[in-house]
Amino acid sequence: MRPQRIAVVALALAAAVVTACNKAAVSSTSPTSPTATTTTTTPSTTPTTTTPTTPGTSAVSTQTMFSKFSGAGVSVSFDGTTATIRTSDTPDHKSPYWGTSSPNYEAPHSGMQVNPHWIATQNLTFTITTAPTTAASTSDTPMGPIGISVNGVVFFNQYAAGRQPLTSEIVSFDRYNGHPSPSNQYHYHFEPLSITASSRSRLIGVLLDGFPVYGPIDSDGSSPTNLDSCNGHAAATADFPSGIYHYHTTTGVPYISGCFKGASGTVR
Ligand SMILES: [Zn+2]
Ligand SMILES: [Zn+2]
Repeated sequence: MRPQRIAVVALALAAAVVTACNKAAVSSTSPTSPTATTTTTTPSTTPTTTTPTTPGTSAVSTQTMFSKFSGAGVSVSFDGTTATIRTSDTPDHKSPYWGTSSPNYEAPHSGMQVNPHWIATQNLTFTITTAPTTAASTSDTPMGPIGISVNGVVFFNQYAAGRQPLTSEIVSFDRYNGHPSPSNQYHYHFEPLSITASSRSRLIGVLLDGFPVYGPIDSDGSSPTNLDSCNGHAAATADFPSGIYHYHTTTGVPYISGCFKGASGTVR
């Protein structure tokens, strides 16, 4: 569960990550996938027969974490190890993108350049496993929703349209790091500040591959230093004290995730 074992590999990769994830056509096979998976020792009842897990075969049930997905526009149901999350994708906080006639409207903050789009109610359905496992290789995240935050707003990846860097769009983020797409689909590319206002180490959402996303800080108060090319690592969290692979938001690219560590579910 301790991260030291993979720290060297992760650091060695770190320089290559930013470049690789900025290339639209990159084939993001991950040579570290097998070693990045945590090795779990069995409970103390069988101290002499610890069994290392094989990558991709150890699933921690994430079903309980979905109780933290709440909001007027969010509902979650389960069928076996599949969670179905429906969302209206409407933020539970103020934004200039609500429009001046909305009670949730607030004026743009200083320096913000409001884009010409607005917050419109969506009808999105995510189908995500509650037994996520790391895949043999990582996969690129798509354009459009790559996951969902606990308040029902969708996550987008680190790209603007055409898989261009977000650079010129960042000024259009409202003060909670959200903005709407040309189809008026509100989304976060960065740490959702309305959610992490209560704790920067808290669960903030889940990606399509079923692995949870946390704020920039680990539950022990430290900043993770061994994030892989997907912006994740295997470690204990407040919700999963025995450890689970999870993503973190970062202030640099890819901000939320550079790739999926597990097999992607669907959104429609
Ligand atoms: Zn965007
Ligand atoms: Zn962590």
